[in-house]
Amino acid sequence: MRKYVIMGVQGSGKGTQCGLLAADLDLVQISVGDIFRWHVKNHTKLGAQVKRIVAAGELVGDDLVENVVRDRLQQHDWNYGFVIDGFPRNRKQAEFFLESYDIDGVIHLDLPDEEVWRRVLARRLCSRCGMDYNLIAHRPSVEGRCDVCGGELVSRADDTPDALATRLREYHGKIDPVLELFRGKEFVTSVDARADKITVQQTIRTRLGLPAYVP
Ligand SMILES: [Zn+2]
Repeated sequence: MRKYVIMGVQGSGKGTQCGLLAADLDLVQISVGDIFRWHVKNHTKLGAQVKRIVAAGELVGDDLVENVVRDRLQQHDWNYGFVIDGFPRNRKQAEFFLESYDIDGVIHLDLPDEEVWRRVLARRLCSRCGMDYNLIAHRPSVEGRCDVCGGELVSRADDTPDALATRLREYHGKIDPVLELFRGKEFVTSVDARADKITVQQTIRTRLGLPAYVP
């Protein structure tokens, strides 16, 4: 059984790396963000709450996150282990997590803030079909238009410079102390997230003593 935590600022490729790691190792991928997005999409009470918080450019509160994670882990569908993204978010949660789940390692995707700015502000979304674009890595063939449906490409409502500055400040305020705690227990593997996704994945696996990723 392998139990990992993956940490990194938004835009650091956590979702992608989680997916690559989970695929052939039979790990269950637990993303707090995905759980919240599911609730928003399905118009649950929790979803409405999350929608308000995100629209204000803030992070979802620690208590809410903790409850969602506890419920998810109690399903016990992770026979070979899990990789969790979006938790823990403070020292208290980190301590609880270490005691309860006997974590094997913490993967830290290290991305400098200036690169986060570059990546996040390059994101675009089709206003008609919802397809994701990125002006750095996935440009549309016609500027400002969706390749699939011709719809107008727009920025996400929460990808403004102000909202990003708030999120980065909150992220460092919360996550840096958690990383420090994990580092003290020698759990953390820091990987340079500026490399391409396969290089990042192979580095993670080498460091954790896992079999190499075969694309
Ligand atoms: Zn479209």
